Amino acid sequence: MNPYPHLLAPLDLGFLRLRNRIVMGAMHTRLETLDRPVERLSAFYVARARGETGLILTGGFAPNLEGRIDADGPVLCGNSRLDEHRTICAAVHREGGHIALQILHTGRYAKLPECVGPSAIRARINRYTPRALSVQDIRRTIDDFALAAALAREAGYDGVEIMGSEGYLINEFTAPVTNHRDDEYGGSLENRCRLAVDIVKAVRRACGDDFLLVYRISSIDLVEGGTTAADTAELARRIENAGANILNTGIGWHESPVPTIAASVPRAAWAFAARRVKEAVSIPVIASNRINNPELAERLLADGTADLVSMARPLLADPEFAKKAREGRADEIAPCIACNQSCLDLIFTERSCSCLVNPRAGHEIEFADAPAERRKRIAVVGAGAAGMAFAIDAAERGHSVSVHEAADELGGQLNLARVVPGKSEFDELLRYFRVRLQRLGVQLTLGKRVEAGQLAAEGFDEIVLATGVRPRVPDLPGIDHPKVVSYVDVLSGRRSVGQRVAIIGAGGIGFDVAEFLLGDADESRSPEKFLRAWSVDPLARSGGLDAGVGKAAGPAARHVHMFQRKRDKLGAGLGKTTGWILKARLQKAGVEMTAGAHYTAIDDAGLHYVVDGMAKVLPVDNVVTCAGQESDRALYDDLVARGLQPRLIGGADVAAELDAARAIEQAVRRAAVI
Ligand code: NAP
Ligand code: SF4
Repeated sequence: MNPYPHLLAPLDLGFLRLRNRIVMGAMHTRLETLDRPVERLSAFYVARARGETGLILTGGFAPNLEGRIDADGPVLCGNSRLDEHRTICAAVHREGGHIALQILHTGRYAKLPECVGPSAIRARINRYTPRALSVQDIRRTIDDFALAAALAREAGYDGVEIMGSEGYLINEFTAPVTNHRDDEYGGSLENRCRLAVDIVKAVRRACGDDFLLVYRISSIDLVEGGTTAADTAELARRIENAGANILNTGIGWHESPVPTIAASVPRAAWAFAARRVKEAVSIPVIASNRINNPELAERLLADGTADLVSMARPLLADPEFAKKAREGRADEIAPCIACNQSCLDLIFTERSCSCLVNPRAGHEIEFADAPAERRKRIAVVGAGAAGMAFAIDAAERGHSVSVHEAADELGGQLNLARVVPGKSEFDELLRYFRVRLQRLGVQLTLGKRVEAGQLAAEGFDEIVLATGVRPRVPDLPGIDHPKVVSYVDVLSGRRSVGQRVAIIGAGGIGFDVAEFLLGDADESRSPEKFLRAWSVDPLARSGGLDAGVGKAAGPAARHVHMFQRKRDKLGAGLGKTTGWILKARLQKAGVEMTAGAHYTAIDDAGLHYVVDGMAKVLPVDNVVTCAGQESDRALYDDLVARGLQPRLIGGADVAAELDAARAIEQAVRRAAVI
């Protein structure tokens, strides 16, 4: 029986038949900046086509030089070499997939001094002020879109997506806040829509009726002065009349003060915005953002929210998402946990994209995925992220793997992460690891600390130590005082803390602990609560924001004070695309932050410290230490003393700045060659 009848139903557009309703949303990958870019991109898309994705949308290509995202940004124009595109399209078609090229003019977001926009109004996230396009420039830009689409067709793409959302050029024309023109491209709704409509018509004229034309509409701008819901519905109708086949829905501008895809956003929180677009038109509509499993996707299609679902990051995490759903193996789908750590955070810091859960993403050509030449008996000690990832990949290559874990449950540090509000997607990662280990027949021993003697006696071919980390204990008078607790005590629930708390250490874990002590886990689960907390009013004024956006919340239940010794701003090392969310939330909760602190003692009076030469004491009920970690290598030393040569992975190898992304990547790369 088909477990997902709506999701797996083909979509017949007459000239084109998509095999299901799963669309891989366009992503900047920056793979074009690495070595062997065409081979890489080809392998990247082929993996998703082979995984039975219905339609692949490429990352954005600018129709002209001023529309590039930055000086390295990809362009499709008269000078472009089409043979590279042909290679990619042919490879996707050989797998039975369909692929459309996104045409993206970044407008005033271009990191280029020559950037352009409807009016000369600088975006707060760009240092360059755009030049206002003249009417002549606009006509040339429309021609550039049409030419790019015609070239895409010539190269073998099945269609194009015109990027009209996220605050890029076309969206800048449709929104009153960025369009202050008084000619035929500004002012009235009809004039603000004119560029979008003219581009769609020109692309249709250039490419004919049997070429897929997707338009990505900004279904909610999430900026003050953005488009109203009524105007968005009218724009959708005009785009349909101009000749688009499908409307994709974008959520929020890049400069929006509201998170749109991070883990703190509940799943399907933006379904209402897609539904509104669908109600306005009769062509198929794609829902997007925080849809990461087939059950949810099926529900959104079954309840009429949309006709297709866009999943970008979930297809980084598992290129076989669609295939596994069709085969009734949804529980084996590697989940996107919406962390942004190895995708968007890398892209926005000018690195190429991959995935924390699936380090092969973007690096497909580096993995042969060949079965092992000789089946080895491998013992893995430690069932945290590194140990589990290693065990799965080694077992997949045919090795006989046993995992030994001292705790009663799998997961290691992942069990600490999953309890932090906004991080419940880690439960899905644990589910994935658990199911894969079980299906691959990996032998698990839980709740028993394995000794070096036992490992030596069993004569394993390989011993892999993923024994993880221990929290660092700062060397400080009073560190043994009963009010001192470590982050492990707090997050594991072994110790509760009082109303006044000092946190020593402000890395990722210090911030997680603050969020744990102050946050509301329901906010990342209930769309209604989330929208209220971030002042999103679906019915509201322009842009979908109510007047309270960015305003302080009421007093928090606890008083939390975070400290670090460095003089930098606290949180400077947090993820580029998620750190601001955490900092904004903690600021609203009244968390105090002190940099440049020198801790002198902890006693009954509280935490004693010196800052800027002034000695101070903060009266607190508890001091939580989040001062980094040290590798746990006791077993390693024992084994080496017995003449064995264990391999170290994850935190046991290098504790400094260890995170799940690095642990999993190292494990997967080691398992590929063992
Ligand atoms: P971390 O980022 O290295 O931070 C450790 C903190 O402890 C720093 O603020 C450091 O600041 C302080 N510290 C270090 N030695 C100390 C000492 N001897 N006495 C007092 N303070 C000391 O480590 P972490 O917070 O434990 O996180 C571990 C890893 O997990 C990191 O790679 C982190 O990025 C990752 N992680 C990421 C996230 C995320 O949201 N992406 C969440 C959790 C964890 P000073 O030296 O300035 O005092
Ligand atoms: Fe999802 Fe995180 Fe992977 Fe990005 S890095 S695709 S957010 S799991």
